[in-house]
Amino acid sequence: MKHMYVSGEWVESEDKRTVATKDPATQEVIAEVPRGGKEDVHRAVLTARKTFESDEWQDFADEERGRILFDMAGRIRAASEELAQLETKDTGKPISQARGDVEAAARYFEYYAGMADKIFGETIPIQADVLDYTVREPVGVTAHIIPWNYPIQITSRSTAAAIATGNTVVVKPAEDTPLTALKLAELFDETSLPKGVFNVVTGYGKEAGDALIHHPEVNHITFTGSVQTGRLVMEAGSKNIVPVTLELGGKSPNIVFEDANLDETAKWVVKSIVQNAGQTCSAGSRLLIQEWVKEEFLQRIQKQMESLSLGRGLDDPDLGPVLSQKQYERIEMFLDIAKKENASFVTGGKRVHVDGCEDGHFIAPTIIDGLDPHSEVAQEEIFGPVLSVFTFKEEQEAIQLANDTPYGLVTGVWTENIGRAHRLARKIRAGQVFINNYGAGGGIQMPFGGYKKSGFGREKGLEALKNYTILKNVAVKM
Ligand code: NAD
Repeated sequence: MKHMYVSGEWVESEDKRTVATKDPATQEVIAEVPRGGKEDVHRAVLTARKTFESDEWQDFADEERGRILFDMAGRIRAASEELAQLETKDTGKPISQARGDVEAAARYFEYYAGMADKIFGETIPIQADVLDYTVREPVGVTAHIIPWNYPIQITSRSTAAAIATGNTVVVKPAEDTPLTALKLAELFDETSLPKGVFNVVTGYGKEAGDALIHHPEVNHITFTGSVQTGRLVMEAGSKNIVPVTLELGGKSPNIVFEDANLDETAKWVVKSIVQNAGQTCSAGSRLLIQEWVKEEFLQRIQKQMESLSLGRGLDDPDLGPVLSQKQYERIEMFLDIAKKENASFVTGGKRVHVDGCEDGHFIAPTIIDGLDPHSEVAQEEIFGPVLSVFTFKEEQEAIQLANDTPYGLVTGVWTENIGRAHRLARKIRAGQVFINNYGAGGGIQMPFGGYKKSGFGREKGLEALKNYTILKNVAVKM
């Protein structure tokens, strides 16, 4: 039984109830964590408020906040193997991917540590006898609702930015994957961060999550997850007039032109949909391929997909299981729809048996061809290793297909024609466009976020600092 972290103390939930977190490969319970409710959230938010307003935190030197975040980066690296194993057990992802996530978490702390004493405003010329200047201040108590697909990365990216800018934090990890957020709390506890700055309340979205987003003492909500829940977060924000940052789903395309380096492109197209078993908001879940190179390209990706291994995350396969029965059923539902619509399965489309993991849900990497681009499977986020293929003849048709979903998170453009690459970059309605690559190594320095139903506001990079600061203008008559 684990405890949650509120006000620098390890506590149970008020009513002592717990939630079990399971290993997705075997469905074995790996830990029980408190099932936080309204009272627990209230306590955490009030602590975060009181700490935010305390003289100690208000007068805390900016560079000292930076040092603590640097210290965290070091502690994450020192505990990296333990963190990676926890993440793999909780999410099911291959251990090498979890190791990458842990290193990204350390990088977020390091990156935002460097910004802690570089947040400043401007002077604005008005008239000779007035000095006008702006100051960027912390917003106050920030709420962070974390999904289960990249728990340590996403917890780190928003909390590091929030603390760097002088806010206090309440984290609500996903009920399925709370372990690395609790481990981060343990690492924070070893630093000189004042108690009450970083708090974690575990539990269900409909209970702890709902209480957190509606709490009147919260000044900003950062949410990553489904559109459906994102809508509830926005509604809650509207009730208290609180800004929200929403990082929602995607149906991101890789657009491949005939002049692309097809071998290199194929590797990335496959990687972008099988990474984390396709449970990635920025997964490359649509392939838009120029008609006359379709067959040779499909052969390449089919061959690669069929050579991938599936297994338990700790054994470091190419793909682990999907998170849960609920996620499996959702993927299966989309596969069934595609079958009913007589789409053709180039490969995959079925569950795979893994020895010793009879209760895990493993899905073979899947390529679906022949879908109507307006069908549900072509338009909606599946969140599994399922790639849908569409063809185009000319540039304009590719742009139209790429933009023709409710989402706009990421797009990959593969071509040797530089003019065409930039024309597409301009016309694609997505928050990130990658040319001849997909993800650029995850670069934490790049602003990340969506157009349309993929959300709004930007995480990562310097841009994210704007989420956690509020601008004040001061005018002095001299
Ligand atoms: P979700 O959006 O419901 O869960 C994300 C987080 O929100 C979790 O911490 C959850 O506890 C919390 N939450 C849920 N209901 C809440 C509420 N009423 N108030 C406050 N917080 C609440 O997502 P899910 O049900 O776990 O997954 C469903 C689908 O969402 C997936 O299949 C996928 O398509 C999408 N998803 C996207 C991302 C992403 O990275 N954009 C991450 C996870 C899930």
